[in-house]
Amino acid sequence: MRANGAGGWAAEAILRLMADAGPATPTPLRRVPLPALPDVDLYLKDESALPTGSLKYRLAQAMLCQAIGTGALARGMTVVMGTGGAVAVATARLATLAGLPFVAVVPAKTPRAVRAGIERQGGACRDAEGPPAGLHEEARAFAARVGAHFLDHYTDAAPALAAWPGPTAADEIFAALRTHRHPVPAWLVAGAGTGATSAALGRHIRGGGHPTRLAVADPENSAYFPAWASGCRDYATGMPSRVPGIGRPRVEPGFAPELIDLVIPVPDAAGAAALRWLHGTAGVPAGPATGTVLWAACHLAARLREAGTGGSVVAVMGDGAEPYRATHLDPAWADAHGLAPGRYAADLERFAATGAWRFGSGARRASA
Ligand SMILES: *Cc1c(COP(=O)(O)O)cnc(C)c1O
Repeated sequence: MRANGAGGWAAEAILRLMADAGPATPTPLRRVPLPALPDVDLYLKDESALPTGSLKYRLAQAMLCQAIGTGALARGMTVVMGTGGAVAVATARLATLAGLPFVAVVPAKTPRAVRAGIERQGGACRDAEGPPAGLHEEARAFAARVGAHFLDHYTDAAPALAAWPGPTAADEIFAALRTHRHPVPAWLVAGAGTGATSAALGRHIRGGGHPTRLAVADPENSAYFPAWASGCRDYATGMPSRVPGIGRPRVEPGFAPELIDLVIPVPDAAGAAALRWLHGTAGVPAGPATGTVLWAACHLAARLREAGTGGSVVAVMGDGAEPYRATHLDPAWADAHGLAPGRYAADLERFAATGAWRFGSGARRASA
């Protein structure tokens, strides 16, 4: 027994972090009914079922295990992040579980509900003093000043997920589909924030030699589509994405264009339409990023129908509706922020009823 030694603490903390998700994994695969496309099976990988309600939980779990495993994060050290997002809520839970104090340096305007989420998981919030653009660097400087460990999810999440020894979302998807009629998905679709999730899916596909292709759904103002299309990594838009969790004004280090077959730019209003349609048609209460991803998945489903091959499409649902009830999911708020579904709502209704997709997929032309 070395329970009091450093090695003992690290091993024990890692075991505790790895066991935490327990009954929440594998997260469910939910079918989205598309009766007009009888040969296509569309699924959502529901990551809102993870303990803190978002896929950021997997990122936080992998980052903390990695930092503890390498010794960078030792017993009693405080963990600091610079974000008021879902990754802070997840890290608060897991750091607390490992017995480590956690401080999120958050933008001054962070809603009370988000602060409460971090605090409920055992973390503390510290208001940033500078502008939001400098949040990350301010948090890094604060961590250095107090001798804490700074977690930088934009650089740390992708390598940590690559080193994660436990089952991944991709493992779970392929295992769950094994008994279905299209057991190997034709497409996996995800949004990209840090890029870690899509990179992990891509590695699984390439590593397993699967014929599956990987698409990233990209909202307005994001640098990922132009960067992927041009092959230029230092592309920057200078404008923040309006879809929480996905789309970045610059290309983050975890984004792996070499593993991505297609980046699909999705208008924010189309994502909003898909989110409402999903709730109406399948009763699944998802967060805004899922609308963007689902729109792209519908595009790919239409391609499979046109190609006459059929197949399965799995879209990653990054979080649930709960945190967005007063914002993105409130029609008045959405209207006021230019996120009304507009004509895209009718496009989806027609797609669901007839299978017709008016946004030319090109599949016919390409195979003609
Ligand atoms: C962060 C996030 C993503 C993207 O995950 P990354 O691994 O950071 O690219 C997708 N959906 C939601 C809801 C997210 O919060």
